[in-house]
Amino acid sequence: MRKDETKPSPPYVFSGRVRPQIAIIGSGLAGEALAARLSSFCEVTVFERGSTRGLYSPHVVSSGRSLGLHSTVNYGLGGTTALWRGCLLDMEADEFGALWPDIVKKELPRSYLEFVTHLAGERCGGLWSRRKEWDSSLGDILERSLLVPARSPRLAKSSTWRSVSVRTNCVVDRVEEKGSGVVVVFRDGANWQQQFFDLAIVCAGALNTPGILRRSGIFSPLVGSNLTDHPMGLVAKLEVGNPMRVNAQLARPDGLRTIIKIKDEATSLWASFQLCPTHDTSFAEEHYLSNANGGGGRMFSALELYEKVKNQSYREMWKNRALGRKCVGRFAYVLATLEQEPNEDDTVRNDSSGRLILSWTIAEAGVAALTRSLQKLAASFEAELHLPPDGISSRLWSGAHHASTCRISLNGDTGVVDSNLRVHQRQRVYACDASVLPSTGASHTGLAIGSLAMRLADHLQLCLSDKATVRVTEKA
Ligand SMILES: Cc1cc2nc3c(=O)[nH]c(=O)nc-3n(C[C@H](O)[C@H](O)[C@H](O)COP(=O)(O)OP(=O)(O)OC[C@H]3O[C@@H](n4cnc5c(N)ncnc54)[C@H](O)[C@@H]3O)c2cc1C
Repeated sequence: MRKDETKPSPPYVFSGRVRPQIAIIGSGLAGEALAARLSSFCEVTVFERGSTRGLYSPHVVSSGRSLGLHSTVNYGLGGTTALWRGCLLDMEADEFGALWPDIVKKELPRSYLEFVTHLAGERCGGLWSRRKEWDSSLGDILERSLLVPARSPRLAKSSTWRSVSVRTNCVVDRVEEKGSGVVVVFRDGANWQQQFFDLAIVCAGALNTPGILRRSGIFSPLVGSNLTDHPMGLVAKLEVGNPMRVNAQLARPDGLRTIIKIKDEATSLWASFQLCPTHDTSFAEEHYLSNANGGGGRMFSALELYEKVKNQSYREMWKNRALGRKCVGRFAYVLATLEQEPNEDDTVRNDSSGRLILSWTIAEAGVAALTRSLQKLAASFEAELHLPPDGISSRLWSGAHHASTCRISLNGDTGVVDSNLRVHQRQRVYACDASVLPSTGASHTGLAIGSLAMRLADHLQLCLSDKATVRVTEKA
């Protein structure tokens, strides 16, 4: 293993203040979790470019594969998380792959439960702890089931939090290390301002963190490269001889949803699958639209209605249908999520007017891997596999899991942040969000991002402990 070049971590020197001052840039999944945790021992200022309530989705220009109809990123309190309901899925040990440093792979799972509970509450934390009880064997493919109703991050209510000040409509341009601290340069409306902190953590997401780091003088070619996402789509249908076999796998208590994962041995790429019961073998012509307007939307409105139904058995039936737990006929759509290999030509950049320009492609090797994994899935269910006449590639869109544009690596030549998420070329600047994930397997990225935030908070708590502060201050 290569030596981690930027260790050891501080204790940091403070200028006699009792509590360290930390800037968090971005209030999304990672930024919110960090603000909540750090506020117990620091004074935290969160800079958010969007508004308190507003959902302002930026215009993203894609020069490669089109992203789909939905917004895949959101500006405003809560960041992109404000757009979702919450599927929290952990990576299998083998799914992390070779790019993740061993120390992070080992430590990350320790923060899962804390993050699930933080984001989704005690009840979901309980479900999470018991998730393995419901796993059952499907031959040599894996099954993981957790679809929890995550709340949107609660930073909006943070005026009631101690020690957190939230500055909305503030666009951070750059962070500059000066003396024993960091200056955050930002635009508040039309006014340019700057503010001094002990440390800054950039949490602006996989599409915006690279731009902030570049403007801050981090010129590594890895900043903004290796953009990955999960190609996702309704790519096939299973025709099952025995619907009960599928139903037995789909039915899970308490809102958990079955997600089946398969590793393609030839490429080591993972795919995950959800089965969505349907009536026949024909494929919707406009698959993306039919999913956006029909499938997902119908499920959420059905769940909302379900809450209002008084008759219990009717309510159960409705819930099972809405959650896709019952195969109504012999057919099930397969919603696939596919791992991507990093490709240095897939990038995010800003043009001269600041717009995000993405180059994101889907490799043929990945599509071939997905096809093999679909065949394995069908064999496990003893089902016939129906593929769309126009092939599966055209049915894949962005899973909105942009990642890896400033990845973790022990070495500055192969990554942008070290294993403690500190930017390699800086002492007091960290990055924590989807951009630092070295790879994502086929799992939704939220759990890894949030757990990294919890782990970073633990690390900073050690670096910034009272003892360290007092000792250094006295010396100064
Ligand atoms: C429709 C949809 C559904 C999804 N469902 C799931 C799911 O079920 N499970 C899952 O795990 N993942 C899901 N995801 C993906 C998940 O939402 C993202 O991976 C995650 O939110 C990324 O978190 P982040 O902290 O990296 O960035 P974000 O949440 O995007 O936060 C970045 C924040 O930084 C702010 N910012 C950006 N630039 C600046 C700047 N210059 N100055 C100040 N602030 C700035 C932004 O406004 C934003 O608030 C979904 C995504 C979408 C779009």
